[in-house]
Amino acid sequence: MITTHNLGFPRIGKKRELKFALEKYWKRDITQNELCDIAATLRHEHWQNQEQLDLLPVGDFSFYDQVLDTSFMLGNLPERVQNITDNTLDNYFRVARGRSSSNESECSCIQAGEMTKWFDTNYHYIVPEFDQNTQFSLDSSSLLEQIAEAQQQGHNIKPVIIGPVTYLWLGKAKDESNKLDLLDKLLPVYAELFSELEKTGIEWLQIDEPVLVTELSDAWQHALRNAYHTLQSTPLKLLLTTYFGELQENLQLSCTLPVDGVHIDAINGKDEVAKVIDWLPSHKILSLGVINGRNIWKTDLSDTVKWLKPIYERLQDRLWLAPSCSLLHVPVDLDNEQKLDSEIKSWFAFAIQKLEELALLASTLSEGESSVEKQLAENKAVIDSRKHSSRVHNQSVKSRVLEITDEMGNRQSQYNERATIQRKKLNLPLYPTTTIGSFPQTLEIRKARRDFRVGTLAEEQYRIAMQNEIKHCVNEQETLGLDVFVHGEPERNDMVEYFGEQLTGYAFTQFGWVQSYGSRCVKPPIIYGDISRPEPMTVAWAHYAQSLTDKPMKGMLTGPVTILNWSFVRDDQPRSETCLQLALAIRDEVLDLEKSGITMIQIDEAALREGLPLRKSQWQSYLDWAIKSFRITANGVTDETQIHTHMCYSEFNDIIASIADMDADVITIETSRSDMELLDVFDEFRYPNEIGPGVYDIHSPNIPSVKSIVDLMNKAKQRIPAERLWVNPDCGLKTRHWDEVKPALANMVEASEILRQER
Ligand code: GLN
Ligand code: ZN
Repeated sequence: MITTHNLGFPRIGKKRELKFALEKYWKRDITQNELCDIAATLRHEHWQNQEQLDLLPVGDFSFYDQVLDTSFMLGNLPERVQNITDNTLDNYFRVARGRSSSNESECSCIQAGEMTKWFDTNYHYIVPEFDQNTQFSLDSSSLLEQIAEAQQQGHNIKPVIIGPVTYLWLGKAKDESNKLDLLDKLLPVYAELFSELEKTGIEWLQIDEPVLVTELSDAWQHALRNAYHTLQSTPLKLLLTTYFGELQENLQLSCTLPVDGVHIDAINGKDEVAKVIDWLPSHKILSLGVINGRNIWKTDLSDTVKWLKPIYERLQDRLWLAPSCSLLHVPVDLDNEQKLDSEIKSWFAFAIQKLEELALLASTLSEGESSVEKQLAENKAVIDSRKHSSRVHNQSVKSRVLEITDEMGNRQSQYNERATIQRKKLNLPLYPTTTIGSFPQTLEIRKARRDFRVGTLAEEQYRIAMQNEIKHCVNEQETLGLDVFVHGEPERNDMVEYFGEQLTGYAFTQFGWVQSYGSRCVKPPIIYGDISRPEPMTVAWAHYAQSLTDKPMKGMLTGPVTILNWSFVRDDQPRSETCLQLALAIRDEVLDLEKSGITMIQIDEAALREGLPLRKSQWQSYLDWAIKSFRITANGVTDETQIHTHMCYSEFNDIIASIADMDADVITIETSRSDMELLDVFDEFRYPNEIGPGVYDIHSPNIPSVKSIVDLMNKAKQRIPAERLWVNPDCGLKTRHWDEVKPALANMVEASEILRQER
């Protein structure tokens, strides 16, 4: 018999119940008991959703983040909350978000824990904090309660924890100490946890060490050996769990650590499964992650069965099956979707449907195809329909991609020549001021968009409402005295969705939410087919905005790499190919904007950096096609047209050469929070074009003073010649209020005038 199991289930709820409960609790609209009841109901439901599996995960539920849960379980709380003893859950929320309730007075707020991306996903965890004095002490109460809860409900379970080495790897030392030195203090706490878990009667424990898919130094490899040798005396059976990629040089290590089984990502690591089987000692079980936990496509069951059959014959009971990783990264239930086109919908599987596929795979293998003939035939029909559908395949798009030439990615002239032409044409002052695109999205704007969407506001009325808003933004910029304008983006709900909705090959769900961090979820659109742009997407708005002013109006677009990285993408062609299709579609828009008289075009690549693969050895090939896609999008314009790009970060020391290679005339980046420290990279690397280092931290309600802006720009001037500097905020202003934005931008303009005089 094959054992089926799951690594983790989304906790947010089919209709984001957990999100709403948390937000109510933070407002104190519900009590802590009520919040806990809702959580228990969700866990109950989620276990029921997974009932067809042999082993259900416990410990995958979290009120905010599983890494923060681990920090609490291991007694590793930041010092700033250690003496607040009122209530564990409130303390937990303080570390997560700086306060336990929205009523908590400003002065009792503490600094929230730093948040960062969980490997290469869009899920963000709270970074564990370490220093050389860090002590650990076990508090397993929450996990034990959930185990008891699941057992009472009669489930066969497998608790899930983060392994000690990955836990250290995820954290950050706040002093000069080496966090690996903490391992010896950490392991006894894990041993203690194991003995607590033994008492619950469980047999298997899933212990996640996804660091095994990253490039590990000798010290980290040694830490893994040390950890699992130290912990091996436990009678619990350990399933060492890896995901998000291939093991590569860690393969042998993963197979030989003293545990009872290994789980590997057999989607990304399919090619190394044979090698793993060869290396794995014969007493160990092998769990294969054969259902993709990172996308929304149905699995080709016949194909998978064909591949698995010989493996099953060889391994027999030693073969377990699971999704490739936790299902945290996919939406919960496809059955909720009422508005998807039925053919397209038939190609998708969300978490619940993925587990059905898993059960089906297992019974096909152990009982033979005839037992599930009907389901397999249905699956085959769907897979075939997707393979051949004219909705997916558009020959003219494919041909266009094949016909891409190097020339298409090159500007007519080198930057220096273009800059001279652009200077003459644009006649901008030194230190030109601009903003990044969006202006505050007021309640009225959101309401108008919503009413238009549901049909209660006629198209003409909607257009007038948006034009009025654009006019308002232009007037404000005029009054403020900015040099380069934007239209304000009132018509956009989201910088990817807005474009996706106007491109062919894109589908949108109603409830396809995926947790991003805490109570925040995103609903990534789905690219299912070849991408084309039937008609201009932004030209009318940009043209209207430009007609209101003599100042240059930036046309505002989202770049192909960002659109790709914030969508669920096709699995039937390489990402690079989809990206090139997007590049051609946005290129058409760029050229149409240029034709309509727009002289500056900003192409946002907010998510370029986050697409970097986990392994550094794979960075260059990603950067090659990502930068190529950007260049094809942007560089078809004449020398006179100025291309801008924007990135919401500036840790690009390691990719600066590629950023420069994009060859945008102007790049705006985030720098204000780091006091321009992030510009250090420009000491070593001579960035050749113009730069706007953000001087106004738009994530904060604080209004930057004139002096602070002047100081920041003076620091920037030490690295980049003044002729090539712009003055702008860090990012778009859509989440701010006008009464914050106006004084902040007024200060920015004033600072820029001072800088010009100082010259
Ligand atoms: N142009 C977008 C805006 O201003 C950029 C947003 C982003 O970079 N995240 O809203
Ligand atoms: Zn940004």
